[in-house]
Amino acid sequence: MIAPHVRNSAMKHAALWVILFSMPVRPASVPHSNRPAPSTQFADNSEVRSALAWFARNLAWINEQQSRLTEIPAPPFQEAQRAAAVKLLLASSGLEVQIDKTGNVIGELRGTNEKEMVVLSAHLDTVFPPSTEIKVRHDRDRLLAPGISDNGTGLAALIAIARACQESHIKPRRTILFVADVGEEGEGNLRGMRALIEAYKPTLKAVIVLDGSGTDHVTTKALASRRLEATITGPGGHSWSDFGMPNPINALVRASVRFINTKVPAAPRTTFNIGQIEGGTSINSIPYEAKLKVDIRSESGDELTKLESALRECIAAGVRDEMESSRERSKGKLEWKVELLGSRPGGELPVNSPLLAALRSADEFVGNQSRVERSSTDANVPLAHGIDAISIGAGGTGGGAHSLQEWYEPAGREMGLKRALLVLLGVSGLAEGKAR
Ligand SMILES: [Zn+2]
Repeated sequence: MIAPHVRNSAMKHAALWVILFSMPVRPASVPHSNRPAPSTQFADNSEVRSALAWFARNLAWINEQQSRLTEIPAPPFQEAQRAAAVKLLLASSGLEVQIDKTGNVIGELRGTNEKEMVVLSAHLDTVFPPSTEIKVRHDRDRLLAPGISDNGTGLAALIAIARACQESHIKPRRTILFVADVGEEGEGNLRGMRALIEAYKPTLKAVIVLDGSGTDHVTTKALASRRLEATITGPGGHSWSDFGMPNPINALVRASVRFINTKVPAAPRTTFNIGQIEGGTSINSIPYEAKLKVDIRSESGDELTKLESALRECIAAGVRDEMESSRERSKGKLEWKVELLGSRPGGELPVNSPLLAALRSADEFVGNQSRVERSSTDANVPLAHGIDAISIGAGGTGGGAHSLQEWYEPAGREMGLKRALLVLLGVSGLAEGKAR
C-alpha cells in the first residue's frame, strides 16, 4: 500500500464539502433524482470533523480490539462467542444492540428518519476449524494470526467507526445499523447477510461491507458462484473376490477427467475447482461411496448454469463408463446424485448510484485511488435484491488470507477508517439542524 498523499488543508476542506454536499439530505423533495438537493449545512460540520479525528487518537485501542476479537475462535456456524464480545463493545459505545436469531449482532444508531436505513457490516466468521490455535504474534510492525486480517480488520473498523460516531455525537438522517454478521465464509453461504436483508429489505437503502484490509479496491460487482457435491454409490465389496464390480471411485475419477476438460470462456470469466474428493474405507475394499466437491464461478449466470449442467453430464457419463467397462456388471449398479451445497447470487451496483458517488468522494478526500472489482462477498446478497451495496477493505495491509500465515500491518489504517466513515455518512446523511 502506498502511503496517502498529504494534501493541503484547503483541498481537503473542498473535498469534504463535496462529500457532504452530495449527501442525500431531502430526498422527499427530489424523488426522481439520485443527487438530492445539496445543502451547505454539512460543509463545516464539527461532528464529522471530530469523528474523523477520533481515529488517530485511538489507533492503539483499535489494534488491541482487533487482536482480542481475532483470538476468540469463530469457525463456521460457531460464531456465538465472538458475537457476544462484539455486542459488548458496541453496547459500551452507547448503541442499542441485539443479536438476531441467525446470530448477527446488530447495533442501531437511530437517525431522524427511522424508515430508511443503511448498514455497515463486517463478518464474524473465519474459515478455520475449532482446533486451530489462534494466538496473535507480533513481528515488528506486523500482527500474525489466522483471521487477523479477514476479518479481524473489518470487525475492528466496525467497532471503531461506531465509537467514533457516538463519541462525536453524530446524528444521522437515515438510521445506521452496525452489523457483525455470521456465515460469510464457505458453507455459511451468506446466511447472516441473507437473514439481515430478509428482515430489513423494505427500509434498506445501502449496505457497506468491510471485509479484510486495504483501500485499493471497491467491490461493486457480485460474482455469482455455486458449490456442488457429487456422490456416487454402489454395493461395495472385496478387492479380490469381487474384482470387476463397478467401483464408485473409478466412476468418480472417470467423471472428474471429463469435467476438468470442460471448456469455459475467458470472457465472461468462468472458473471451476475440484476442491475436495473423498471416498472408500480401506485399501482392499471396493468402496461403496465416493464424493467430490466443486466450486464454480462466473461473471455470467448463464455460464454458471451451463457449467452446472456439464458437471451433472460428466458424473452421469463417468458412471456409465464405469458400468460399461466393469467385468462383473451383474454384481451391482452405481447410483449418483449432484447436490447444491450453496449458491451466491450475482448482481451489480449501478454506475450512477449515490453509494458509488459517496465512495468516490471519500476516496478523493482521503487521497486514495481505488479500482472497481468483481468478487464474492456479503455484498452479493443486497446486490441481488437490487439494494445498493459495496464491499471494501478496512485499511492497513494484509496477506495470507485463509492460511495459517495470515498477517496484518496497521500502518495506514487511519485512511481506511476515514474512507469507510465518510462513505457511510455519505449515504446516511446527517440530521438537519446539527451543523455548528
Ligand atoms: Zn472475509
